[in-house]
Order: sequence, then structure tokens, then C-alpha cells
Amino acid sequence: MKSTPTLTQRIIFAMLAGIVLGSVLNAFGPPAWAQIYLLDGVLGVVGTLFVSALKMMVVPLVLVSLVAGVTALSDMKALGRIGAKALALYLATTAIAVTIALTLAGAVGPGRGFDAGATEASFTGKEAPPITQVLIDMVPTNPVAAMAEGNMLQVIVFALLFGIAVTMSGARGRHVLNLFTDLNTVIMHMVEWIMRLAPWGVFALITGTFATQGLDILLPLAAYFLTLTAALAIQLFVTYPLLLRVLARLNPITFLKKMRDPAAFAFSTASSGATIPVTLRTAEYRMGARNSVASFTVPLGATINMDGTAMMQGVATVFIANVYGIDLAFTDFLLVVLTATLASVGTAAIPAVGLVTLTMVLGQVGLPAEGIALIIGVDRLLDMLRTTVNVTGDCAVTCIVANSEDALDRAVYDDPAAGPVETVTQRPPSSQPAS
Ligand code: ASP
Repeated sequence: MKSTPTLTQRIIFAMLAGIVLGSVLNAFGPPAWAQIYLLDGVLGVVGTLFVSALKMMVVPLVLVSLVAGVTALSDMKALGRIGAKALALYLATTAIAVTIALTLAGAVGPGRGFDAGATEASFTGKEAPPITQVLIDMVPTNPVAAMAEGNMLQVIVFALLFGIAVTMSGARGRHVLNLFTDLNTVIMHMVEWIMRLAPWGVFALITGTFATQGLDILLPLAAYFLTLTAALAIQLFVTYPLLLRVLARLNPITFLKKMRDPAAFAFSTASSGATIPVTLRTAEYRMGARNSVASFTVPLGATINMDGTAMMQGVATVFIANVYGIDLAFTDFLLVVLTATLASVGTAAIPAVGLVTLTMVLGQVGLPAEGIALIIGVDRLLDMLRTTVNVTGDCAVTCIVANSEDALDRAVYDDPAAGPVETVTQRPPSSQPAS
């Protein structure tokens, strides 16, 4: 009997098909009809609709899920503890990431003898927000505007405070909790629809990207590209597995296998923000993290934790310094670790913002922001890769924090078939809020 492929298999197949079709179109130069009707037409519309549908779910999902999660916790001390642990781990993993990136880039030395004439793209630097402003902006002056603008940190702060108030409002608060718990189920149902359409959306996005981004632009920047890819691979296959093993005694292979869905979404959308619905789903249903932890740590991580982005900034700094023939001192390296970690907090979870906050890092060590023009040509592909690492970091920290709070269902984590994508109507016991 022939078994039907699972949704994940279909998504991976769609990715590969997109890579092949896109690369073929790029290699031969798409004929006019293919450009108009296929790339700008059907695929452009399907890809954009898919990303819009994902983004449509982010604010309602984070708000509802977080309010339900916080109220389910009911113990405000636990909330503070979870927040502190998540924050510490997010900052630590980012600092480790930049250190790995700088060490590798220092050893390989990408950019030495680079011919700057080989790329002619230009870059006009934008001001990255100072960290004080990031802090001030955390509290929304108008929560509705925060939701309308999709300002995740502000939505998180509002949802946390709202959830705490619900917990403290006695019997009336319980009505609100029930409402939000039910809403959560409804919204997850909507996310399931998007998941079912995912193979088409992923195929459209990937084909479009590979059709416009020829692999030949990689050649002059091969050293930069390969150094960063190697650094990202170390973070993905060494740092996270080690942390999961040491801090939570969890099987890292199981973790990596279960990351397939969010990884495919992060890779094709290059936005950890748009991937939140899938990351949250995976953390809860596949990894077994309780909603009360995951609903908080996943959106928080998508917003402030960008290990892959910080790695790009580390390697890019060394690359640009080498091209301009500027020697970086040890203190410069330390400065890069610090600023790249903070910049990752201020980097919005959408495509290509990492480049904007890179200006902040370069400025700290006295490098010209124009250097970014050198690497902009290969950034889209690297953005896809680093977003995958960003999202994996969010999930790894979520599992570690959930485990430390006794809020990780190990039976779900260890079960390779847990949380089949097709059956989300019923929440698993692990994510039922405790009554
Ligand atoms: N695209 C990245 C993300 O959404 C941010 C960046 O590095 O540009 O995670």
C-alpha cells in the first residue's frame, strides 16, 4: 500500500522543487511570458498571499495565546522566573553565536585581497534605534496601535499585563480566561488552514527567490558566504544540541528533526516574525512545551533573539574590516560581541533588517557603513539561512526553559509522531492550561 506523504514531506518537496525550478529559470533567463505570468503573476500572488496569511495570524495568536498562557500560570513568581531565564538564555546564546562567528572569521580571514569593484551595489545606511529607545518603546502608549503596527514587544508587554490582571480578577477573571482559552483553540484552527496551504506558498516563494538570485553572485563573495554558513551550521548543529543536552538532558537529534516545519517556513519567508505561528505550534505540539511557557518565550524570542543575525554581523564586520585593510583589536572584538548582541534585540523579525542594525555594529568599531554595499548582493540567501537559525534558537531556549519549569512533556518530546499537523483541533494535555 502506498502511504501518503506527510505535510512536512510535502513542504520539503515543495522547497526542493522551488530551488530547482527557480535556479533553472535564473540560469536560462526567464522568457518574458514566464516573468509576467509565472514569476510576477501566479507565483508572486501565491507567495505574497501566503506570507500575508501567516502575518495575519501573528498578532491575534500572540495576544490570545499569551493571555491564556499567563493566566494558566496563575503564579506570578513563575512568570518572572520564566522571563528571567528566557532573557538570560537568549542573550547568552546570542553572545555565544557572535563569539563563534568572530573566531571563525578571524581564522579564515574572508575579504583579504577582495576586489571591491566586483560588486557595484550601493547602500545608504539607516539609523538603527539606540538601546534606550528600544527600552522606552517596550510600553505601548496605545495597545490598539501596537497591534495595528504589529509591534511585537509592545503586544507582548500588554498581553502580559492583561493576563496578570485577569488572574487577579477572581471569578470574573475566570470568565475572561475561559474566553481566551477557547479563542486560542479557534485561532490554532486557522493556523492549521495555512499549514495545509504551506507547500504551495513555500514553492512560490522559493521559486521566486531562486529565479531572481542567481548563484553566480556568490562567487566573488564565496569566502564571506562560506564562513558565515559554516558559523551558522556550528550554532545549529553544535551549540543548540549541546545546550539541550547539558541544560535539559534532551535528545538533540529529536529536536533537530522536529524543527523541520519552522525551519522550512523561516527559510522561505526569511522572517522569524511571520514564522511565529509555526514555531509556537511546533514548540507546543511537537516538542511538548506547555502553552504557559511557549506562548511567552516563542514570540519574545522571535522579537529579541537573533543568533543567526548576530553571526552575520560578526562575520560581516571582519569581512568589511579586511576589505578596507583595517585591523581590529581584541577590544574591538569584544565591542562587536556586545553591540551585535544588543543589536539583535533591536532587530525587527522581518527580512533584511539585520543589515540595518549592522550599521550600528560597524559604527561601534569605526568601520564605514558603506561597507554593507559589498555584501548586500548575497544577503537574501544568507537572510534565509540566518532566519532559520534565529527560529531554531527560539525553540531550543523554549524547550530548555519549559523543561526547567517542569512544563515540558517528555513523552510528547520523545514521540517522533507527536502533534501530527493534521489534528490540532484537540489540544494535547501538555498544553492544556492547568485549572
Ligand atoms: N530576517 C531576520 C529574521 O526575521 C532578521 C534579519 O537578520 O534580517 O529573523
